[in-house]
Amino acid sequence: MVIEELLKIKAKNSDDLSSAKRRIARLKKISCPSNIALLKSYHNLVNKKRIKPNPKLALLLRTRPIRSLAGVVNVSVLTKPYRCPGKCLYCPTETGIPKSYVSGEPAVERAKKLNFDPYEQTAKRIEVLEISGHPIDKIDIRVIGGTWSYYPKKYRLWFCKKCFDACNKTKNDPDDKNLSEESLWKKLAAAQKKNETAKCRVVGMSFETRPDFVNPDEAAEMQKMGATKIELGVQSIYEYVLALNLRGAGNKETANATKILKDAGFKVAYQMMLNLYGSTPSKDIKMFKEIFNNPDYKPDYLKIYPCALIKEAALHKKYLNGKYKPYKERTLINTIKAIKKIVPRYVRIERIIRDIPSSLIIESPDRISNLRQIVAEEMEKENTQCECIRCREIRGKDKKEKTYLFREDYEASGGREILLSFENKTRKNLYSLLRLRIPSQLFKKPDPAHIWLRQPAHKDQTLKNCAIIRELHTYGQAAEISGKDSLTQHRGMGQKLIKEAEKIAEREFGIKKIAVISGAGVRDYYRQKLGYKFSSGYMIKSP
Ligand code: SF4
Ligand SMILES: [Zn+2]
Repeated sequence: MVIEELLKIKAKNSDDLSSAKRRIARLKKISCPSNIALLKSYHNLVNKKRIKPNPKLALLLRTRPIRSLAGVVNVSVLTKPYRCPGKCLYCPTETGIPKSYVSGEPAVERAKKLNFDPYEQTAKRIEVLEISGHPIDKIDIRVIGGTWSYYPKKYRLWFCKKCFDACNKTKNDPDDKNLSEESLWKKLAAAQKKNETAKCRVVGMSFETRPDFVNPDEAAEMQKMGATKIELGVQSIYEYVLALNLRGAGNKETANATKILKDAGFKVAYQMMLNLYGSTPSKDIKMFKEIFNNPDYKPDYLKIYPCALIKEAALHKKYLNGKYKPYKERTLINTIKAIKKIVPRYVRIERIIRDIPSSLIIESPDRISNLRQIVAEEMEKENTQCECIRCREIRGKDKKEKTYLFREDYEASGGREILLSFENKTRKNLYSLLRLRIPSQLFKKPDPAHIWLRQPAHKDQTLKNCAIIRELHTYGQAAEISGKDSLTQHRGMGQKLIKEAEKIAEREFGIKKIAVISGAGVRDYYRQKLGYKFSSGYMIKSP
């Protein structure tokens, strides 16, 4: 048996593993087995108790291990093609695809094949991840496509229910499409409840929307639908650049949306664009300085997309008549390096390029598909660092070293943010983090127009006098919820951070009530281990 032989060899890395596989295959006169086949046989043998679990070998056999190195697996689900109220100059329009997406992007191709069915997209993706050896206990669902808040409400409710049904392995009932809005709300809540103890638990869910579509009611609904993170299409904070690109929303809307979302406990991601019509590299860099320094912004997550010039966008006409010129590759790399050098520790840069096929892009630096790698290598040579969360996550290199508790406070959107983390001494290895927010109405004088005072969905005043935990994340290879195969995860860091956050809220701000925005699949953790109770979509602990 190849697996038993591999267990004896104790391969240290993937090169070791490949040569061991080849050697064994030669000796046994068989063709070299694929990692997927070996993983199947490994799990079979473990389940039959014929071998002991060996997390190191299971990790080496995983295909594209990076998919679960941040502690969870991501499942992107695309909404159906639908119109968008925006007319943004750079945004592609392709028939049969949601606005802003193009054929050839991996998630788009997957969605097209499955007729944009959210159930099928979720189920298929989970299946593929499982076959490739990734733990599928913790799922982060990313709903992508167009402007989420512009889709009809019944469609959105049905869509979310379908994602949860797929994770719960409930059957894909075609009659759900005929349900009333009221029934959909009830069935969605039931699907979320079921997910609390399902095998594939939804630990996070994100929606993409425009800042001008965010208001207190919309925030409350997105939260009830299951979202824990909102991606805002901010793109620029220069009013004239926004106007030139026909964005239709400005800084006031961005600041307002950020505040509403943070006070409701969401993690806030900004999608920002470089190289927009009307901008320059130095303006782009200045823009990031502003969003890191101005308390109205300070996003938790960033997606930095250089403007990709493609024929299907109106910007192409500006290019043809000489009014728009994309940055050269070198200019773009230098701009990104300059931004990465100033990014604060509380931000996670999630992406610096979109998955648009390079064949569709005209004279654009977006053709460099390994942009992130080039930037990282150049920064290493220059001995400079990006201190964002992603660049410090422990991922697969868990060293079992001593960790220290760090705390950073900053003011944002009228409230106080307290970032607690377990890191090594040099702060280069990040193991676990928690975002605690003292919301704006508690941190400063109550604002009479504040969300929770006029928020109909929260008439029960769920969040009144609450500090909010907006994020709790332990990094490292995703571990199964049962605790088997665990490396960084399940060492109790999360619980320690929560206890510390509770202490800070009470000792320093006199707040005894804590709310957590948690994915449906994590509610049980807060209930069983920490004594929190579910109320109006949040997990709450009160004296
Ligand atoms: S709002 Fe978003 S999807 Fe709509 S046109 Fe603008 S960029 Fe495209
Ligand atoms: Zn970084």
